Amino acid sequence: METNSNPARLNVPKSLLGMSLPDLTTIMAGLAQKPYRARQLFEALYRQRISTLEEVSVLPADLRRSIASAGYITGTPQIVQTARSIDGTERYLMQMADGETVETVWMPDGDGGERGDGSPAGSEEEEATPSFRRSTICVSSQVGCAVNCHFCLTARLGIRRNLSAGEIAGQVTAVLNRHNVNLGSARGTGNTARGTGNTARGTGKAARGTGKAARGNGTTARINLVFMGMGEPFLNYAAFMQAVRLLVEGVGIPESRMTVSTSGIEPAIRAFASETIRPKLALSLNASNDSVRESIMPITRKWNIAQLVDAVRTIPLRTREWVTFEYVLLGGINDQPVHAREVLALLNGMRAKFNLIVWNPGPGIAYTQPSPEAVASFQKTLIAAGMPTYIRRPRGRDIYAACGQLKRTLDDSQTPPPSLVSPALIAIGTLSA
Ligand code: SAH
Ligand code: SF4
Repeated sequence: METNSNPARLNVPKSLLGMSLPDLTTIMAGLAQKPYRARQLFEALYRQRISTLEEVSVLPADLRRSIASAGYITGTPQIVQTARSIDGTERYLMQMADGETVETVWMPDGDGGERGDGSPAGSEEEEATPSFRRSTICVSSQVGCAVNCHFCLTARLGIRRNLSAGEIAGQVTAVLNRHNVNLGSARGTGNTARGTGNTARGTGKAARGTGKAARGNGTTARINLVFMGMGEPFLNYAAFMQAVRLLVEGVGIPESRMTVSTSGIEPAIRAFASETIRPKLALSLNASNDSVRESIMPITRKWNIAQLVDAVRTIPLRTREWVTFEYVLLGGINDQPVHAREVLALLNGMRAKFNLIVWNPGPGIAYTQPSPEAVASFQKTLIAAGMPTYIRRPRGRDIYAACGQLKRTLDDSQTPPPSLVSPALIAIGTLSA
């Protein structure tokens, strides 16, 4: 945690969002406050999801002023642009305190279809009921991406910077607030955060939406998080994992409803295997042998498929947990029957499931989509061998919100804002799966 000790840095605002309870306790101690004040601030930041210090009414006004004059801001990302798809998906341009932007996607799953991570709705522990909304938020981990997968639009941005833990968790709180989501009680429900000792317990302050009727239609939402937005989460590992802990312990979203997708950073997969609080893992396999994978994902030269699969095998799977393998089908490149057979040989005996993703086109990316017959046959081969295999429904293609289509629209002069997207782009974006 940064402290206030360096006078040269006094004018740089420091974001409270992203700080753990011990971090906040240190700040409060510096202001001669008791630890319970830190717990109150923790609850306000994460459970009540406040976006300004003035909203923290549980703290006395003079203490709020002292926190501000010590150089702290809440640091909530701002939604500066919104695009809405015909399928209900919404894509947000989120602006950080320094002006950098990333994209975050909201996918309402009210139609009884698949979950946002591609697994079928029926695999949820609790089924959706009419009083229940189930939605998925796709979260970014970096501004741009350094990995350079040739089929991905985000890769075109290059990497600008990592997001902080607060900027990662803050995308979630901003979207939850936008939709007035009531996560249910902070304690004693299926959505309860784990009590690991780092939680904000015992402050007597109700979580957002528990002490008062939830905003909107008053239903409780079942929220899934997928860390599959812009960036490679495992190249920003520490901040990503800190965000996960805050989202579990602070915001109150169980880790069992979170999935992180990686292009395959072998040492980080091994570190992930020994985390006590961790989401489920999805590995973007995307090819059945190293030579095809190298041609579409050059990072394969650093860690090959065998190394990645070995690392994934070290993850101690929990009850009802599968490792997901994502596989973007590119016409004529990795979608042939021989590739399906190679995939099966690779994953022999692993408790895994497959998400097939039909490649989403992007301007200037010279791949083609697989034929519907190739997709169906690939799926059939895997299922026949006992591998649960789903075809991921593309969400929000018409607004460039689907997998691999995320880039920052506002500061990209070549691309018109979504409301002005040309029919030609819409035609590309809505090519049938
Ligand atoms: N960097 C991480 C997470 C973000 S990408 C990763 O690569 O896993 C999330 C998923 O989108 C990955 O499985 C990736 O292979 C897939 N993807 C990227 N570009 C795509 C595109 N144009 N069409 C379909 N899926 C794509
Ligand atoms: Fe980065 Fe993932 Fe896109 Fe590859 S697919 S460039 S790792 S965001």
